[in-house]
Amino acid sequence: MHYRYHGCLPWNVKRPIGGMLSLPRVHLSLSHLHLSLSRLHLYPSRAQLSSFHLQLYLSHLYLYISHFHSSLSQFNSLSSYILQISKVHRQQNIINAMTRIAEPTPLPPSAHINGTEKHQDQPQDEHKDNLDTFSVPNIQLQIRDLKHPGSKRFLGAVNATDLLTTGTLNVLKLLYNTPPNPETTVPPTSSVTLVLEDMPGVAYTVGHNDNNNIKEIHFSLSYIAQINPPTRVAPEINGVVTHELVHCFQYNGFGAAPGGLIEGIADWVRLHANLAPPHWKQEVKPNWDAGYQHTAYFLEYLEKLYGQGTVRRINEKLRVSRYAEDTFWPGLFGRKVKDLFADYTKTLQHAV
Ligand SMILES: [Zn+2]
Repeated sequence: MHYRYHGCLPWNVKRPIGGMLSLPRVHLSLSHLHLSLSRLHLYPSRAQLSSFHLQLYLSHLYLYISHFHSSLSQFNSLSSYILQISKVHRQQNIINAMTRIAEPTPLPPSAHINGTEKHQDQPQDEHKDNLDTFSVPNIQLQIRDLKHPGSKRFLGAVNATDLLTTGTLNVLKLLYNTPPNPETTVPPTSSVTLVLEDMPGVAYTVGHNDNNNIKEIHFSLSYIAQINPPTRVAPEINGVVTHELVHCFQYNGFGAAPGGLIEGIADWVRLHANLAPPHWKQEVKPNWDAGYQHTAYFLEYLEKLYGQGTVRRINEKLRVSRYAEDTFWPGLFGRKVKDLFADYTKTLQHAV
């Protein structure tokens, strides 16, 4: 059985599950892996990669290295490069765990999700849509190792039904107008399975190769087991799952959107669901598509500048057109993304 990546980088790469890959598919995977590494190289120094960011990259890169390493000897040097980064990353993680201040992130605003903030006299406020009209697809939970300390932690910290239901509604509410509003179109995702398993990294999302509407979110039990301090367990699980759920329901410009934009939208939703981890902060970055929270904060700037629903419009344009940077942003905002980002960067510099 084959699954197709949909979401985290390298988000459109085919990953084998229980079987050999044909050669062309291997080449495809390798080229994307190189792409991911070149993105890593965009950062002037490793120190500028946040722990969270690096972990998400590694969660994918590890899988590739571990799968292809044995059969592709030319990847030896690449493997040791990744392992070298991971060593730095682990040390950084330990330091973070020792120095992080206990500051629980609020859980998703369930009252808001249940629609209690609806006001019929404010129809112009899109975020006050009737959420009952969004339907949550089939949701499943698979725990592949109940003896793992991460499993006990997960089951003790969250209610899986609420986690996936609330997370899905958060994603749909933020990315789509209430159906049947024709301005946005909810994708036909028919099933989401959360798979908890012992694996390196944090999490990734895949679509079934035969039916991309069937999604699987894989979440690392080892990662859950090491979340620190304990007050962060529930909010971090919620945050990671919400991020991955975005990959189950977002568009990607016919596979041409940069990974940084895909990941930025996912973290923008996480940000708006009040699930940003305490280490996130707005920083001056050289590129708008640095990804994750960095692009998320840029998207939030655009959402404020151009009005509520701006990220929905971005996602909708990724549904209807193949992404090309030169036409995508001017088509939406009449300006190049580099100019928009330069203005955003100025606001950060003035704030310092
Ligand atoms: Zn992601």
